[in-house]
Amino acid sequence: MLSRDDCQKMDALDPLAALRNDFVLPDGLIYLDGNSLGPRPRAALARATQVVDQEWGRGLVSSWNDAGWHRLSTHLGDKIAPLIGAGAGEVVVTDTTSINLFKVLAAALQLQTERGSNARVILSETSNFPSDLYMAEGLSDLLDRGYTLKLVDHPDEIANAMTTDVAVMMITQVNYKSGYMHDIAALTKLAHDNGALTIWDLAHSAGAVPVDLKGAQADFAIGCTYKYLNGGPGAPAFVWVSPQLLPLVRQPLTGWWSHAKPFAMKPGYEASRGIEQFLCGTQPIVSLSLVECGLESFAKTSMNALREKSLALTDLFFACAQERCAHHPVKLVTPLNHKHRGSHVSFEHENGYEVIRALADRGVIGDYREPKIMRFGLTPLYTTFTEVWDAVDILTDILDRESWRDARYAERNAVT
Ligand SMILES: *Cc1c(COP(=O)(O)O)cnc(C)c1O
Repeated sequence: MLSRDDCQKMDALDPLAALRNDFVLPDGLIYLDGNSLGPRPRAALARATQVVDQEWGRGLVSSWNDAGWHRLSTHLGDKIAPLIGAGAGEVVVTDTTSINLFKVLAAALQLQTERGSNARVILSETSNFPSDLYMAEGLSDLLDRGYTLKLVDHPDEIANAMTTDVAVMMITQVNYKSGYMHDIAALTKLAHDNGALTIWDLAHSAGAVPVDLKGAQADFAIGCTYKYLNGGPGAPAFVWVSPQLLPLVRQPLTGWWSHAKPFAMKPGYEASRGIEQFLCGTQPIVSLSLVECGLESFAKTSMNALREKSLALTDLFFACAQERCAHHPVKLVTPLNHKHRGSHVSFEHENGYEVIRALADRGVIGDYREPKIMRFGLTPLYTTFTEVWDAVDILTDILDRESWRDARYAERNAVT
């Protein structure tokens, strides 16, 4: 049996323990929702003051040049690149993940058409993040060329569904609900063998698990900065295009920042040859500036070190839950196999929503996803082993006493 003492010893020996100081985490709160909104880096407050007071307040318009605002999207892209196996000059931080998905999906479908492909299927998972599927539906309607979405219910079905009528395979590497992690290299090879292009949504991968886009010969990737990268609420997303494909593709949101010479102000669109082609309009500079603060913590460690701790945290969560909650109808949804596990753990419970609300009242913040899923993000930059022990302890108490049955938990908040 694991004891709380054992967990405290694990924390004392944790080589990453000091990184927790980079973040503001309210006293007495166990924050297991960094997979939805990362906590605030300490440095973000000073950076916000600098960008609002000095760069905007004093520098005014000259800050586009003097404070480097015009290069911020690529500058931040260069800092994200090593976390996802991309190179310098290959990533931009811009817009939202949903909008970036639209851009890369349109570019991928266009490239397939130019190559003479008649494939009209976009392959994804039923359990993919709904926004990704909605964007694919919207784009298919707009293009009106007979594209259809083919959705599989289980990761094992992808291989059979990958036929030569698939134009693009669009998968979220770590499933937002189950925490299942796909093998980017294996699925990319499968797609390429069938003539399909791949789009990887790294919303729950970037900063959570090591990713090697180039090693996997992936084609396109997008992802969030406000989850594991701790960029701030609604911070702009990122987009990567393989350097081999970049010269061949066009994205349709041809705003001036994607132009080869935005300040030439000439009529007639000419796409930038760099990854800047995947920008569109002017960036939200205040929000974009804060993204850098989150990335600074990653520069102090490695994704392999983070992965090692992440697996130790999720293993510990499972072990504690197995020891203490096994007599309750709580079903583990996240794979036990390390190869297929991201950095959050999910359990199914009929009254998952109420349990998550009861946990929040006891200072444990997880979240709920339809249907019945309780999610707990275990983020190695700041989550401690003792917190995992305590969280499962409180969860067990709530289940034992059935305190989730309190009537006030039945009413849904606007955001779950
Ligand atoms: C969080 C998340 C998004 C979010 O998209 P936004 O456009 O930033 O709201 C997209 N895809 C996945 C898989 C996500 O988990």
